[in-house]
Amino acid sequence: MDIRYWNKDVETADVQKIRHLQLQRLKSIIASALKTPFYSRRLPSVGINSPDDIKTLDDLRRIPFTMKDDLRQNYPKGLLSVDTSEVVRIHTSSGTTGIPTVIYLSAKDLDAATDIMARSITATGAGRTDILQNMMSYGLFTGGLCMHYGAERVGLMVIPAAGGNTKRQVSLMNDFRTTVLHITPSYLLHIHSKLAEYGVKVGDLALKKAFIGAEPHSEGTRRKIEELFKIDAYNSYGLSEMNGPGVAFECVYKNDLHLWEDAYIVEIINPKTGQLVPDGQEGEVVLTNLIRHAMPLMRYRTRDLAFLHIEPCKCGRTHRRLSRILGRSDDMLIINGVNMFPSQIEEVVMKIPEVGNNYQICVEKDGALDRLIVKVELYSKMFLGEAKQIDNLKSKIGEELKASITIKPAIELHEPGSLPAFEGKAVRVVDTRPKL
Ligand code: ADP
Ligand code: ZN
Repeated sequence: MDIRYWNKDVETADVQKIRHLQLQRLKSIIASALKTPFYSRRLPSVGINSPDDIKTLDDLRRIPFTMKDDLRQNYPKGLLSVDTSEVVRIHTSSGTTGIPTVIYLSAKDLDAATDIMARSITATGAGRTDILQNMMSYGLFTGGLCMHYGAERVGLMVIPAAGGNTKRQVSLMNDFRTTVLHITPSYLLHIHSKLAEYGVKVGDLALKKAFIGAEPHSEGTRRKIEELFKIDAYNSYGLSEMNGPGVAFECVYKNDLHLWEDAYIVEIINPKTGQLVPDGQEGEVVLTNLIRHAMPLMRYRTRDLAFLHIEPCKCGRTHRRLSRILGRSDDMLIINGVNMFPSQIEEVVMKIPEVGNNYQICVEKDGALDRLIVKVELYSKMFLGEAKQIDNLKSKIGEELKASITIKPAIELHEPGSLPAFEGKAVRVVDTRPKL
């Protein structure tokens, strides 16, 4: 195994040392937070008037959670701790669901975020000789620029391709001998389904690795990507509120994601009660950013559901590993009273060998009941099969889904390339039920 470190001392530091560093950084974040309109009201209301009021890491729990709505209500400057002359970059969320959220970075913050990104890239074994095609969108979205800066710092050659224009993406990969992709898993699968049309074979390309993230995906999807492209795919997790990608990243063992604990304090809570769950149990990920001072953010509720591995990783890093994101608390579907996450459906369908590179989940009203339809694309050769074979396949997919989600959806089989494709984050669920 090609185990490389970017900052070995910190990456392999013993737990005591990491906790000590966290406490010191937390105090310094508190000092910055007290300069923001938002936290200068909130922290004194729980008796925190100075960094000295934080004596141990447990004191973090005195601070109320910060919600996405807090960010919205304080848009645009309520969480800014410095004069804008100190700020060198902003990012915002898309804002499609209302007021966007904004984050601010000083030069020092940007440097720290870039360093964590460089560490993440290095953990996968990628380095100076690699050529990264960055296919996340650039601009206000954090996915493009944050990866770009980190990769340049490590010394990779970066192709800032951004998303879209699939044909050109494939030419770039071919002409510049791209070895690493940064991309959403759904878009990567879509690219695969286009290769034949462009007359390109996987074997013509020089790909070795892909950093896949920005959207939920299953282990089955990762395996499919690895087999189709003959590459290693590393799960990359981040969110704009925490500076984007690089919050947690897989190492060469690809055994879930090291969450960089010197930069983030992670808590896993029961989303209903807000209480911490025991180690190793699933819950909502809550993050405190320890490396951003222009816009401090503490105990931010991500709404992402995951658990922490407590066992150490073979790579020697001591930072705990976050599981694959199992779903988002606001993604849950309730179908005729049964709760499920779209990721459970993906997990099942992507493991079925006949299923191709795309799928869609539709929910509609059927009289008083809900109707769940799972549409999957097949690899083209399947369509040569007999009608009976097709029926068998439908019932196999239906039964396997029932074993996982307890209800049996209607299954539709589609030709390759016929379901909607996405160049960025995929929208998998089409729910046409009237909103209550
Ligand atoms: P938004 O919250 O508006 O989607 P971001 O673009 O910052 O804003 O997306 C962050 C979210 O994307 C995360 O909170 C998470 O739900 C999802 N996400 C990012 N990376 C992954 C990943 N590797 N696996 C699953 N979900 C991910
Ligand atoms: Zn590891």
